[in-house]
Parts: sequence; C-alpha cells; structure tokens
Amino acid sequence: MARTIQVLFLSSEVEPFAKTGGLADVSGALPHTIYNLGQEVRIMLPRYGSIKNSPSRLHDMIRLQGIDIPVGDKVLKGNVKSSFILGTFTKVQVYLLDNHDLFARPGLYVHQETKKAYADNDVRYIFFCRGVLEMLKKMGWQPDIIHCNDWHTALVPVYLKTLYKDDKFYKKTKTVFTIHNLAYQGDFPKPTFAKTLLPAEVEEDLTHNGKVNFMKGGLLYADALTTVSARYAEEIRATEEFGYGLQDILQKRKSKLFGITNGIDVTVWNPATDELIPHKFDTKSLDSKVENKKTLLARMGLPFNPKVPLIGIISRLADQKGFDILGETLDALMKMNLQLVILGVGEKKYHTLFEKAAKKYPTKFAIALRFDAELAHWIEAGSDMFLMPSHYEPCGLNQLYSLKYGTVPIVRATGGLDETVDQVVPSKGSGTGFKYEKNEPRELLAAVHAAVKAFEDQPTWRKIMKNGMNKDFSWEASATKYINVYRKLLS
Ligand code: ADP
Repeated sequence: MARTIQVLFLSSEVEPFAKTGGLADVSGALPHTIYNLGQEVRIMLPRYGSIKNSPSRLHDMIRLQGIDIPVGDKVLKGNVKSSFILGTFTKVQVYLLDNHDLFARPGLYVHQETKKAYADNDVRYIFFCRGVLEMLKKMGWQPDIIHCNDWHTALVPVYLKTLYKDDKFYKKTKTVFTIHNLAYQGDFPKPTFAKTLLPAEVEEDLTHNGKVNFMKGGLLYADALTTVSARYAEEIRATEEFGYGLQDILQKRKSKLFGITNGIDVTVWNPATDELIPHKFDTKSLDSKVENKKTLLARMGLPFNPKVPLIGIISRLADQKGFDILGETLDALMKMNLQLVILGVGEKKYHTLFEKAAKKYPTKFAIALRFDAELAHWIEAGSDMFLMPSHYEPCGLNQLYSLKYGTVPIVRATGGLDETVDQVVPSKGSGTGFKYEKNEPRELLAAVHAAVKAFEDQPTWRKIMKNGMNKDFSWEASATKYINVYRKLLS
C-alpha cells in the first residue's frame, strides 16, 4: 500500500474561517477530501481579526508562542493557534498564524470603507510565508508536501529553494503551487524585495514589469504547478490576455503545470440537504424550487409570476466578472421578460450602477450589496437561471452550485465556465446551460434571450434543469488528481 502523504495546505482564506471568494471554498473542502482519501492534511492560514472563536474554539499552542519571524530589518513575533474543521467523518487540523498588528483587522486584504488594499500587504504575507517555515521547525512536523495557493503563499517555494536549501529539516519537502487567479499577483514596489530578506540573485526572478511580483516567484520555484481547470491551464500559457505577462514562464513550465477542475462541497451545496434554504428539493420535487423562488422574491421585494424567469448573480463586483458588459446591456435586459437579483460586494462603480438600476426597475431588479452566505444559498435555490458574464474565469464555482440547484447557468465560454457547462440544444432537451463566445453586449443578450425563450417550454426546461442536477462535481475525482501530483513529486 502506498504510504500516507503528509500535506500542509496553505491558503490566505479558508471556509468557514475567512472568505472573500472561491479560494475559501476550495481551501475548506479540498483538504477534507484529500484526508478522506487516506492522506494526512493540515491547513494553515493567517489569524484575521474577523476570526473569533467560530467555528470551533481556537487554542493557543503553548510551544508555538513568540516565534521570531524576520521581515526586513525587524524581527516580528508569531503566535500559533489551533482549531479544526469538522467534516462528517473527519477532523482536519487548522493552524492560524497570529500577529496582532498585521492581521487583527476587519478586512482580509482591503480597508472595509475605502476598499483600498492595506499598505502593508507585502509585509503581511512575507510574514505569513516565512512564519509557516519557522513554525513547522518549532513544531517538528515535516510535511512531504507544502501545497501553496495563490500569491499570498507564493514565497514559500522561493524560501525553500534559497534561504532554507541547506536546511535538513526541509530536505525532503516538495512544493505544489496552485493558481486560483493569475490576475492577482501580489505586486509591490521595488523596496519590498529587501523586506523578503531573500538573496540578491533572486531579485530578477521576483521582478516583473519593474515591480516585485510574488506570484512569479511561485511559478518559477514551486516543484509543480496546478490551476483550477484544464481550459484555464491552456489559456494562461497561450496569451498575454490570460497570462498577464507571465505566459512565457508558464509555457516553459508546461510539463509541470496541471489543470485540475475544482469540485463542490456537497455537504454545503446540495438542495436536498441544504439547511439554509426555505424548501429543500431534488430532481423529483422541483415544485419545491418554485416555493424557494416565491420566498426569495418576497425577501428581495419583487413580485412573483411563474411565467417570468428569475436570473440570479452572486459575485465579487470586480471587472473580471464582466459587470461592464452587464452594465451596457442592463436597459435591454430589463425590456425582456425576466427579473434579476444581484448579491455582491466590490468596486464602488458597480455599487452605484446597480443601486441606480434597482431604483429605475423596482419590479424587475433587486440588489443586496453585501456578503451574505445565507442569501447566496437562497439565490441558488430560488433562481431559474444564473448569469456569469466573466471576462475570464479560472474555474468558477457558482455555475457548479447552480447546476446542482437546477438553476440553469448562462455563461461566457471561458476557462472553467466553458469546461463545466454543456451548451443547451432546446430542440433535443440536451445540455446544461447557455454559453456565448465573445464578451460583447450583443452576444450576452442573445444568450439570455435564448434562455428566456427556452424557459417558455417548461417540460423541456425541467429536463435541462435535471441534466445539470444529475452531473457529478464532487471533490473526489479532483482530490485524487492532486494526490497523483503529490506522488509524482515524491517518487
Ligand atoms: P471568485 O473566487 O473569483 O470570487 P468563484 O465563483 O470561484 O469566484 O467563487 C465565489 C464564491 O464566493 C462562491 O462561493 C460565492 O457564492 C461566494 N460569494 C461571492 N460573493 C458573495 C457575496 N456577496 N455573498 C455571499 N457569497 C458570495
């Protein structure tokens, strides 16, 4: 029997501790599944101010208090707290690296009011990366694999191959770096390099467009790279548009880059067992989905009419998600036979845009401009369709949740959206969603129009809903692929 692999999973956000987007969903669910498949996994994230004692008590780890973590010309102190994530049959150990000055703030990355990034985000994540390596040594736990996720953790592979390269403790440790979103690279002005305390010869490897770039370090130094769909793995190697200037590195490291499509946590996202929604349902009780629609519309202050399809959107309100195109089409959409609800937070310009539109179309359009996990479940359960006009989408999770909840996705055919949604052919009752190629208002409108038209034929529509609900996007298949990547590195 193959030996158990010891994995430390590093992420800047982990459900249910801290979340701004899909990274947290993945970091909460993937380690569990890897654990269920027989490996030992522990998780580590920063202890943000928003993490109090939930979901289970945080305990100080007595031995791991006051660890010295050098950053620039200072030595900062790190304290480790421990907790767990409980699954049905699992209890995954979670470590939270604490430094009050750096992390005890209400937001994860940005000021809550101004929405501006914290000025010391470089120091915060240098501290985290270096702190992880110092903490493991103090603890005496030698993982076989350190699985890093996105730019916040990207310096770990760089440290291991430079400052720690002769350290016996890490002799056998390999790194995997997963790209969840290549556009967020952790780039900082030149003086940041000195704060990393990395040797001068590394500076070039960490420099991109005249700035220090953490992501680039991860891409160059990790033993294996993965990203969250096969299609995105191709896109980021092929073009400047998707590669954000790092495409040549990815092309060179092609043999070490694996596309592994995300799964969904069916203990959280399953309409048959979802405790957050008003009426549970499955493929045999689709009428209960209509009850969810009624309840959702009442909550959002919109009238119910069974003949009018309701489109849902749940998203970070960021340029990536295509809200510029949606903004251009909003008036035309509002002329169609549909209603629209949006749940999201993000850029101010989109808050303003949607606030205005909600006033202009009070019976057709409603918004909730906040982060609200419960409402997200209600929208998945109560909407007929789900719109994702993304310019790019590494994987996307909401289209997967939508499929599971019989909420037919309408998506721009990019990255994981293209990979996980099958084009509907109404005459055959085949497919799971509506896709369009170019992110142009005309194409978006045509796709929505096709969906609204298909909705008129309810028996066929229900067939399309069931096609999606019957798809299997559980984590097991993906987690097995990650374990294979680990094994390859260790063999
Ligand atoms: P990304 O990671 O780019 O933000 P994904 O589709 O991969 O996009 O994942 C987004 C996750 O964040 C989903 O779980 C979604 O439900 C959740 N989410 C996004 N915005 C909100 C919000 N305002 N309220 C509640 N959940 C949200």
